[in-house]
Amino acid sequence: MINTDVLVIGAGPTGLFCVHQLGIIGLKCEVVDNLDKIGGQCIELYPDKPIYDIPAIPECSGEELTNNLIEQIKPFKANFHLSDRVEEIKKDKNNWLIKTSKGKEFKTPNIIIAGGVGSFEPRKFSVKGCEKFEGNEILYSIKDKTIFKDKVISILGGGDAALDWAIELSANSNIKLIHRRDEFRGAQASINKVKELEKQGKIEILTKYQLHSVEGDKKIESIGIKHDDDNIKKIETNYVLGFFGLIMQLGPILNWGLNLDKKHIPVNTENFETNQKGIFAIGDICTYPGKLKLILSGFHEGALAARGCYKYARPDEKLRFEFTTTSKIIHSRLGVKKDD
Ligand SMILES: Cc1cc2nc3c(=O)[nH]c(=O)nc-3n(C[C@H](O)[C@H](O)[C@H](O)COP(=O)(O)OP(=O)(O)OC[C@H]3O[C@@H](n4cnc5c(N)ncnc54)[C@H](O)[C@@H]3O)c2cc1C
Repeated sequence: MINTDVLVIGAGPTGLFCVHQLGIIGLKCEVVDNLDKIGGQCIELYPDKPIYDIPAIPECSGEELTNNLIEQIKPFKANFHLSDRVEEIKKDKNNWLIKTSKGKEFKTPNIIIAGGVGSFEPRKFSVKGCEKFEGNEILYSIKDKTIFKDKVISILGGGDAALDWAIELSANSNIKLIHRRDEFRGAQASINKVKELEKQGKIEILTKYQLHSVEGDKKIESIGIKHDDDNIKKIETNYVLGFFGLIMQLGPILNWGLNLDKKHIPVNTENFETNQKGIFAIGDICTYPGKLKLILSGFHEGALAARGCYKYARPDEKLRFEFTTTSKIIHSRLGVKKDD
């Protein structure tokens, strides 16, 4: 059981800045995110795209913003629990008991939900028998590309992820790129590259095909793919990678006894607490009159929610308002030295 002052659900920009705000007022937190990386929508949906409305940063990409936020919270050494989803929460006197999909347990007086549009999950194959191989030979994301060396890899999908991985893995593996349409919808440069690699015999492109069956006992041995004209082709393969995009689901948040308004959590604007004492909601997931779904709003909401947590985490202490420029205690929490 991990005891902490605050559990933050979601490591998007809002959750990350909130870690900073908790840190400067001296509260410890743990962060859980369903994704395998930190950054939420910024890193998953638009890492290379420029953002122009972060205060005092004229332009930065989703990835740069994430890296800066990570840098800014370094002094607070928050633990991140990635590829894990908060499933259950239960009240226990003045605390909340939390369980994740990987079986981790937390005890805390405060939960800050910074869950954005819910947890991102890969769209999976609907073909019977795929679950048996999932996480081994059937994969929806890649953590260790060295396992593919000298193997046959069937990649299904027509967007950037499918194209980029086909290009990258073709250096050391035999690639079959399978797509249900004739046209790919990724970046033109990647489409051109894939076609060039096809000419060089490094990638085999199979269009108008969809996954029809998977065969194998302990490991995958082959797959059947079905053409638009109903012909079925058998491919001997070691791995099957599916890149059909992500679905966003509120998922378990729906079952936590929170008031909901069209998949959003209503909060007060004083400290962003929900209808449940000690549960706060900030960022895209919360709603209140005038809510703007912008990163800058999430930062403000996180600052107030962090202060809202203080009274439950330190019931016998009063929080003093202090500026980061002049507060010695904040400087010591940040690990900065000031001569004054
Ligand atoms: C293409 C695009 C461009 C954009 N451009 C701009 C822009 O220019 N300026 C701007 O201000 N905003 C922009 N936005 C919006 C901005 O990205 C969002 O407002 C912002 O990401 C919201 O941050 P968040 O931290 O609230 O949520 P998110 O970024 O959605 O992060 C939430 C995280 O919570 C996790 N999570 C959810 N439920 C659980 C659970 N039960 N357990 C564990 N983890 C969970 C998710 O996996 C996710 O990582 C853009 C959005 C898109 C899609």
